[in-house]
Amino acid sequence: MLNQSEDVLVVEGVNKNFGGLKALDDVNIRIRDGSVHAIIGPNGAGKSTFLNCLVGRLIPDTGSVVYYGRDGAHSLSGLPPHRINQMGISRVFQTPEVFNDLNLLENAMIPAFAHNDGAFSLNAWGGVVSRGEVREEAEHILEDIGLADKKEMVAGSLSRGDKRRLELAMCLVQKPKLLLLDEPTAGMARADTNNTIDLLKKIGERGISKVIIEHDMHVVFSLATRISVLARGHIIAEGTPEEIKGDPRVQEAYLGGAEV
Ligand code: ADP
Ligand code: MG
Repeated sequence: MLNQSEDVLVVEGVNKNFGGLKALDDVNIRIRDGSVHAIIGPNGAGKSTFLNCLVGRLIPDTGSVVYYGRDGAHSLSGLPPHRINQMGISRVFQTPEVFNDLNLLENAMIPAFAHNDGAFSLNAWGGVVSRGEVREEAEHILEDIGLADKKEMVAGSLSRGDKRRLELAMCLVQKPKLLLLDEPTAGMARADTNNTIDLLKKIGERGISKVIIEHDMHVVFSLATRISVLARGHIIAEGTPEEIKGDPRVQEAYLGGAEV
């Protein structure tokens, strides 16, 4: 049986079809608390579909998703995205979603309030806090993320790479327990990618568990403590980075393919 203290998320038997297409085919994954769990696989493997099923953007046809939050186990099945978010699961999208007309500081502050329907009592923050405290935390995070000097700029003027970083700030201000990242370095130059890797390592120090969907093997092997390989909607291998590197099925299905 499941050991609650070890897992932050347990996914069992998840299927998702789009018309005749099996986008997810009996997916089983356990995300261990404190881990950086990478999900890799070729384009169209079902990675984003999987993430969408975790955050309530899509509803699996069958299967269960159980989240072990701060206050015990919760089935995420059928819950709307904002409820899942309020429970401590934040997500960075494949295409950055920021408030283009607002400045960076405003962008970084808003999700903290969204967390509790705009009230000033923020569960994840451990009690009642003031707007000033949220502002201070948002400023800290922008500093950590290297965007402090742009905090008065409108988000719409940022490069794609900076928008992705801002999105990360917007997640962190919510103090999530589980952070889901869909290709966090997509579209970034190598130097920016390396900065993001450093940043994600730094975030690791905050004790946030992470699921990271990634195409770039350099990113995966720099960060992941555990890797699942998805191919045509099915998990074909799971293990430590060393085990995955040496798995011939993975080599064949993915690492040796044109995608890398
Ligand atoms: P990945 O993120 O691994 O590249 P996706 O999860 O985006 O893969 O897609 C998996 C498969 O499901 C692809 O064949 C894709 O075309 C299909 N798909 C994804 N979303 C939808 C949708 N909303 N409607 C129909 N087909 C979809
Ligand atoms: Mg995708």
